[in-house]
Amino acid sequence: MQIRIYADHAATTALSPAAYAAMQPWLQDEYGNPSTLYSLARKPRKAVASARKRIAACIGAKPEEIHFTSGGTEADNWALEGAAFCSPDRQGQIVTSSIEHHAVLHTCDFLGRLGYCIDLLPVNQDGTVAASVLEELLREDTILVSIMLANNEIGTIQPIRELAEVTHRHKSLFHTDGVQAVGHIPVDVKELGVDMLSASAHKFNGPKGCGFLYIRDGIAIEPLMHGGAQEHGSRAGTENVAGIVGMATALEEHQKQLKHEMTYLCGLADILLGHLRETGLDFLVNGSSNRIPGSLSLSFRGADGEMLLHRLDLMGTAVATGSACDSKAAVLSHVIQAIGVPDDYKHGTVRITLGMDNNEKDARTIAGQIARILK
Ligand code: PLP
Repeated sequence: MQIRIYADHAATTALSPAAYAAMQPWLQDEYGNPSTLYSLARKPRKAVASARKRIAACIGAKPEEIHFTSGGTEADNWALEGAAFCSPDRQGQIVTSSIEHHAVLHTCDFLGRLGYCIDLLPVNQDGTVAASVLEELLREDTILVSIMLANNEIGTIQPIRELAEVTHRHKSLFHTDGVQAVGHIPVDVKELGVDMLSASAHKFNGPKGCGFLYIRDGIAIEPLMHGGAQEHGSRAGTENVAGIVGMATALEEHQKQLKHEMTYLCGLADILLGHLRETGLDFLVNGSSNRIPGSLSLSFRGADGEMLLHRLDLMGTAVATGSACDSKAAVLSHVIQAIGVPDDYKHGTVRITLGMDNNEKDARTIAGQIARILK
């Protein structure tokens, strides 16, 4: 069965036609390595510099604060390990939340095995981290606090500005995983007051395997990649020129229509919820009302989320249960556990993340399909 309705935009998105077109020249005709000295390198070098400027403008950063990576996972690993390794005695505290993506949580596990003290912040029922709880946990030796801007399963948006302020009062660094937020809600690094922010192109209709880490001017972290002098010596490896250009194009496209996109996706999610409520099904909407537009984590009483996913798949609709990276594992997601979804609902959780390629008919169809399966 072919997928007719794609409703898993938090897992990945299709490359936009504009991004695809913008990438073409750099794959064949202009294949020069930007680091070389002859004329073939000039155009790719300029293209990377221009993309850096365009991306920086989208998030209120300076071009030199944007560091290209192979995606969100690398950006998260680099932020955490890069900050931790500035402490040569391998000691000190790193604070994160219990609902982070595994790119952060598993990196913390690794740093914990090296000797750092890792503390996980609890979240409240809607998945929000409270600044007061963070403040109580901070110590004199806190190196870094890493709290995601928006959660990939329940969409909850964190009070990042407040959390960063508390962290800075304790003279520690603040990183946010912005992978689910960049391109979908307004993100201004100066307004948020963060020291580092991770992003990934494939979450906003850019290519896979391409992302960036914003590192505030004046912050020095250890490189993760060692080798050549690319990215001003901070991240070795020949630049993914086509990917970087595609990412800049895709992000600019989202930025231009951000307000419209947010209104449209909130409207679609409301339609879907409205139709589901009319069916009389017993379900909970997880996460905060302040969440990523179009993002719905729903827990159906007495249902089996994985069975629901497969039945929807047979009907031509793609949704998720936990996070994308966990989609093969039948374990209950750490996020659903952390927010304390009641026992008789938690196993019936599905994540529906709508995108600009969805319409009202899709929203109504998904609600109808769920009702047919569960009834
Ligand atoms: N962080 C969050 C919140 C994510 O949702 C994801 C991907 O699902 C990642 C990090 C990893 O990004 P990437 O797929 O670019 O490695």
